[in-house]
Amino acid sequence: MGPWEVVGAPLVVVDSGHGGHDGGAVAGGLVEKDLSLTLARQVRAHLEKAGVRVRMTRDKDCFLGLEERCQIAAEVKADAFVSVHLNTNPATEIHGIETYFAASQSLMARSVKVIGRAKRVALGEQLAKIIQRKACQVTKAQDRGIKDSQLIVVMRSPCPAALVECGFLTNAEEAELMKRADYQQSLTKGIAEGLVEFLRSQGRAVQVAKAP
Ligand SMILES: [Zn+2]
Repeated sequence: MGPWEVVGAPLVVVDSGHGGHDGGAVAGGLVEKDLSLTLARQVRAHLEKAGVRVRMTRDKDCFLGLEERCQIAAEVKADAFVSVHLNTNPATEIHGIETYFAASQSLMARSVKVIGRAKRVALGEQLAKIIQRKACQVTKAQDRGIKDSQLIVVMRSPCPAALVECGFLTNAEEAELMKRADYQQSLTKGIAEGLVEFLRSQGRAVQVAKAP
């Protein structure tokens, strides 16, 4: 337990995409399930430094169903959920960052009041917007914007949720950038800063941790 893990500190679920037999995208000498885990761990480190508690959906190379990932967020009563993925496109010139949210009604949301659902959806979009802006700012990557989607992990998350497609493995230049430790650090710092800004906007106290 670190000094930042105080009771009442906001809690974010950081989800590393794919895992186990599901490798995700493979291109540019990179495997999505491995890079997403590397990046997710860095997002965790940045968040913890900012006084945010973090629960990873997976912290090793294992398979996890999409519903399971959402259940974890429900169990720990997360304040926000972020899923880390890497993109591909047959058109190899395409590059940049894009972030997904779900404006659609989730199955879990049907059991709550309409007003609660509407609020959560709007918050998901707000979360996606802030993460997208911060991640693009720090990396100078092309801003491909935020997109409404039917992705299960964001659609069925019980808290505001966003899925970041951190870059295109199919774009040679971006794949090379994503192998670099300094680029990974700025990217994940941007994602974490976005989450912190979102939590602050929700009135959640986020404090900078003192060194142990
Ligand atoms: Zn993916």
